[in-house]
Amino acid sequence: MSCAIIQSFIYQALPARVVFGSGTVRQVREEAERLGGRRAIVLSTPGRGERLAGDIAGHLGPLSAGRCARAVMHTPVAVTESALAVVQETGADILVAVGGGSTIGLSKALALRTDLPQIVLPTTYAGSEMTPVLGETAGDRKITQRSPKVLPETVIYDVDLTLTLPATTSATSGMNAMAHAVEALYAQDGNPVISLLAEEGIGRMARALPRIAANLKDPEARMDALYGAFLCGSVLGVTTMALHHKLAHVLGGMFDLPHAETHTALLAHSIAYNAPAAPAAMERLSRATDSPDVAQGIYDLAQSLGAPMALRDLGMPEEGIDAAVGEALANPYWNPRPLEAAGLKTLLMRSWSGETPSSS
Ligand code: NAD
Repeated sequence: MSCAIIQSFIYQALPARVVFGSGTVRQVREEAERLGGRRAIVLSTPGRGERLAGDIAGHLGPLSAGRCARAVMHTPVAVTESALAVVQETGADILVAVGGGSTIGLSKALALRTDLPQIVLPTTYAGSEMTPVLGETAGDRKITQRSPKVLPETVIYDVDLTLTLPATTSATSGMNAMAHAVEALYAQDGNPVISLLAEEGIGRMARALPRIAANLKDPEARMDALYGAFLCGSVLGVTTMALHHKLAHVLGGMFDLPHAETHTALLAHSIAYNAPAAPAAMERLSRATDSPDVAQGIYDLAQSLGAPMALRDLGMPEEGIDAAVGEALANPYWNPRPLEAAGLKTLLMRSWSGETPSSS
């Protein structure tokens, strides 16, 4: 139990409806009708996602008006525009998205352009479903915006949809979720309610991931991880992120690195950098992860799950380190510990080679 003194704060909740459980996918028709939907279009990625979209269309029954399996990573504007034409052809009045952050990104981009309501069924732990944030790419530029228009009206979490998530993706997606809650704990606009949710989200996820690695279909562990992902996504939606997310965005943009894997390779190092400046957050993190040295504990957790630990293995060139430090300093996010070039360089060098974290 934290004894931290409560200060003045503002808590702004986001207006989303959350249906959580097992078999909840069967409620999609009822939820669509609740939002006044008569013609639903189901969004997904191609391949496996498309088959899943077929199942969802089956549950929608007469409300199903079509499908669009075009979602890809990074929400390119050209893909959104082609999907928009399909939405208009079908005369859809509600969007139903099933998939990870890539599919949810397409749904949000379509909602931004059409103002259609969204029902989202997440299949990873990325957390986008709980945020009013959309990142879109046009050419090699990624533009991120915050708008209530992109926040899904209804989120249906069905643990059964996550049972097929492979071991490495479960690990990196889970670490990605934890990164949101870690930064919410020391966010400039954090508050005691958010800290409560963040600590619980991190704890649930940290305890679930080793059990999932041991048995991918462990129903209780999957339920814990999904609940953790919901909490971590919720706090991401109501706070502004700091150095860790800045670095993940910089590296993702500059070197086209994969999203969840980059978060995973960076997280322990970002925590080590910020630990001296965020003692209350570290106290909560230590409790949630059951480790006296939080950065080392997060590093050990990711490594034990078989996650890639080095940015070089994700495709980042060593000579990119200085350029990335420059980019992070040029347009910084607020951070509890002031940003200095030498410290950032050490952070990136250690995460580039996959070494253990150090706060120096
Ligand atoms: P993703 O949606 O690209 O999915 C990763 C891979 O896992 C894909 O190949 C997908 O087909 C597969 N997959 C997904 N669910 C599966 C399942 N249940 N079983 C088997 N395979 C499955 O990746 P992601 O990490 O979920 O999302 C990353 C994207 O989301 C990035 O573009 C990131 O910027 C965005 N994002 C946005 C926010 C936000 O608030 N706007 C938050 C987090 C992430």
